Amino acid sequence: MALVWIYPSLLFFLFPSLKPGRALRNYPENEVTLLDSMSALGDLGWEAYPPEGWEEISVMDERNTPMRSYQVCNVMEANQNNWLRTRHIARDGAQRVYVEIKFTLRDCNSLPGVPGTCKETFNMYYYESNNPSLWFIKESQYVKIDTIAADESFTQTDVGDRVMKLNTEVRDIGNLSKKGFYLAFQDVGACIALVSVRVFYKRCPAAVLNLARFPDTVTGGDSALVEVHGACVDDSEEVEAPRMYCSADGGWLVPIGRCACKPGFEESKDHCQPCSPGTYKAAAADEYCSKCPPHSHAHQGRASQCTCESSFYRAHTDPPGMACTRPPSAPENPMYTLNDTSMALEWDPPRDNGGRADVTYNVRCRKCPGDGRKCSACGSGVHFLPRQLGLTTSRVLVSDLLSNTNYSFSVEAVNGASELSAGPRGQVTVNITTGQTVSVVLKERRSKDSITLAWQGPERPNGAIVEYEVIYYEKNQRDQNYTVLKTKANVMTVEGLKPGTTYVFRVRARTDGGYGSYGGEIELETSHEDMLAIGDPNQSTILVVSVAGGVVLLIFLVACFVVSGRHCGYIKAKQDPDEEKTQVQRGRVKLPGSRTYIHPHTYEDPNQAVRDFAKEIDASCIRIERVIGAGEFGEVCSGRLKLPSKREIYVAIKSLKAGYTEKQRRDFLSEASIMGQFDHPNIIRLEGVVTKCKPVMIITEYMENGSLDTFLKKNDGRFTVIQLVGILRGIASGMKYLSDMGYVHRDLAARNILVNSNLVCKVSDFGLSRVLEDDPEAAYTTRGGKIPIRWTAPEAIAYRKFTSASDVWSYGIVMWEVMSYGERPYWEMSNQDVIKAIDEGYRLPAPMDCPVVLHQLMLDCWEKGRGERPKFGQIVNTLDKLIRNPNSLKELANTSIWEDVSTPDFSVGTVDEWLDAIKMGQYKENFASAGYVTLDAVLYISLSELSKMGVTLVGHQKKILSSVQSLQAQGSQVQV
Ligand code: AMP
Repeated sequence: MALVWIYPSLLFFLFPSLKPGRALRNYPENEVTLLDSMSALGDLGWEAYPPEGWEEISVMDERNTPMRSYQVCNVMEANQNNWLRTRHIARDGAQRVYVEIKFTLRDCNSLPGVPGTCKETFNMYYYESNNPSLWFIKESQYVKIDTIAADESFTQTDVGDRVMKLNTEVRDIGNLSKKGFYLAFQDVGACIALVSVRVFYKRCPAAVLNLARFPDTVTGGDSALVEVHGACVDDSEEVEAPRMYCSADGGWLVPIGRCACKPGFEESKDHCQPCSPGTYKAAAADEYCSKCPPHSHAHQGRASQCTCESSFYRAHTDPPGMACTRPPSAPENPMYTLNDTSMALEWDPPRDNGGRADVTYNVRCRKCPGDGRKCSACGSGVHFLPRQLGLTTSRVLVSDLLSNTNYSFSVEAVNGASELSAGPRGQVTVNITTGQTVSVVLKERRSKDSITLAWQGPERPNGAIVEYEVIYYEKNQRDQNYTVLKTKANVMTVEGLKPGTTYVFRVRARTDGGYGSYGGEIELETSHEDMLAIGDPNQSTILVVSVAGGVVLLIFLVACFVVSGRHCGYIKAKQDPDEEKTQVQRGRVKLPGSRTYIHPHTYEDPNQAVRDFAKEIDASCIRIERVIGAGEFGEVCSGRLKLPSKREIYVAIKSLKAGYTEKQRRDFLSEASIMGQFDHPNIIRLEGVVTKCKPVMIITEYMENGSLDTFLKKNDGRFTVIQLVGILRGIASGMKYLSDMGYVHRDLAARNILVNSNLVCKVSDFGLSRVLEDDPEAAYTTRGGKIPIRWTAPEAIAYRKFTSASDVWSYGIVMWEVMSYGERPYWEMSNQDVIKAIDEGYRLPAPMDCPVVLHQLMLDCWEKGRGERPKFGQIVNTLDKLIRNPNSLKELANTSIWEDVSTPDFSVGTVDEWLDAIKMGQYKENFASAGYVTLDAVLYISLSELSKMGVTLVGHQKKILSSVQSLQAQGSQVQV
């Protein structure tokens, strides 16, 4: 007999706060409802068996809209077995669904005269089926989800006092594979009103991040992350393949890779927009469109390059941001010096270099017969030094010209724009005539110490003769000593010669255009006696063209030219204004401002420290939503903070439990006055405190993924090495900031690092009393203090020497925790054994698959001498280098050591025990359903079989296979 115990329609008037009105229901964006009994317009039409069990009733919500629910209350009769089965619920691709039920349950004691068989629980089941119209399912075919008990049962009096509570319970069903399923509720003699049932699954809602579009993604069947590849938004291209992970909670995690707007487009929020007219963007890697450089334009918009104005050009190698340029004007003021058949030619640079710094010069040489015939190219007989084309200095030495010949030299200036321009090139021209030899020595007169020479000038000099040059030397002594004399006349007496000695003479003329060639060598001997000898002119006029003399002279000239050029270059380099500028700037580099941490104890009034460093928040701005953890002083909740004229944000709220002492209040708030002094992306941010009303609260930013140790354990084997190094880099950067401020943390450990939804890690836990009271890892030392032994440097354990260097030791342990996905440092060794082992030089081996460079960095952090450990700044630099050069992470440390040390040594008998022992217990069902029921069977498992049975994570596969190997080594009576 059903006991009618409440007017169900009263339900919502009793609990107006529950208001389940359909129109008002707003489910989170990442939940997709598959069934919602509150939204049903007509009967729910669920199967109830037997008929006198569950009863469908109509109740009114506060809008007077009828809604359907079920109740049962057969408490007066024993042996109840009442089933209520929903319609077939299509699972819509979801592998894991959540069932949220709201119900009230009567307290048996409150029902007068009910027998002892009255129950206060009921059971929830499901049955997977591809068939949406089953009319009968055997009880034994259902899979039990859970036995549901009320958190809040109620009594009749409670109802009268309006304190009755509605219970909400959520259960999940994982690894669904058929088209859908039925839910069933089994009552075994309780008094229940099943007010509503909602079935939903979670998905990560479509999102755009780093210009990559990620689709709506249904979360995974177990708690695994689902890897999703993003597609670049329109007009963007891939820089690095974009990926994210969809977490079981329906949140996106760990964005990797990104897209960038194509050339001609720039990023605007989550899309790419064309560059506006007058601007351009040349490469995807550039961030924004830039204004067109001088002498260019982009009238149409979406330009990847601006077009040059007419008669301006962009050379192929010019960057798109460089102004358009034009060819240079002509070189100016050409000057030359002729020297025999060589010429030094110089000029001034062009007045307009066309806007470029790459001006060079080309020299063209033409030989002009001068008798009305056309000039022709000089050919390869004439040589240019340093070269004829592409000269970077405004001078050239031309040699091997023919004597007594007309030449025309033109010098043109060119730059990077010249070859793009069809116009004539700016050039200057000089015309020269090379000199002639002094051809004939007419006479000579000799005495014992003098010789007189007379000669005839050149027949057709290339200008008025300025002077003659006479060179002479003792025969065969040219290299030792020679003398040069000058005269305006064409006769000269050379005195002071040795008697009876043969001398060689040569003569050349100089005109305005330079020196002509030497005439031939004349050998004359002084007399032995003091007599005057007149030579026979016919004998002395043999002309021998002296090649050697010419070459020596030329070499000398060239050497001067080159040396002087180099010399100029050197001076210039030394005075390079750019270089000077660089040095000046280096001198001005400002060291980062070093703020110092102020210990709250330095304040006489600790409340003043809180006022100085923490903002007071009005409690009405805070909405507490759920409990997420337990702190030393009370609960830690998550919620939202909405400050006036600020965006609402998610926050964590720590509250001080009632009945605290003044000291506890001070200690509790000390965390805020410490945290409030820090401002760094890897340090947990303080939003403010509530001290003016109770409970006293500390509000910090909310870190969606909670503490790092738990997060790592949950995601064992799921991250790439680079992601792990990214985590370590973040922590090191936060610690560098703290050590720069002079703050020593003393309790750095993965459990005290928090992780947000983007996998950013932040150092937390700054309370003054935390090491003493809060940390469950802290143990009493012989000196009385309480210290987290496994994370603490030996000098800090031995004589409480806590410094940033002891924080570095702890950082090394955190590195080890991260690389081993939250393994306990030193496993189950006792604290005493750990202290002893460290003292004897033992250090933790590299975790499995840990790159050797990272293990080396850990070992550096665990140097016994604290002065030898790296500083946090160095650690950050090292990790940055590794991130920039991922190849350096490829060499893995020796894992066999790891297996020896880290694998617990005990015997197992069953597959389940074995999986538990190697911490792979989550795969028990996979092994069982694949038929691996004995350890003997496991011995022959292969990688592909593991994959087939659903062990797909590489880290997990390795762990299992390496343990199988040791099973093989020892037979099935095993040490794992
Ligand atoms: P604590 O008292 O700081 O050790 O906090 C206790 C637990 O609350 C931590 O282990 C975290 O799981 C959680 N918790 C503390 N602060 C936050 C936060 N800002 N965001 C998310 N969870 C937090």
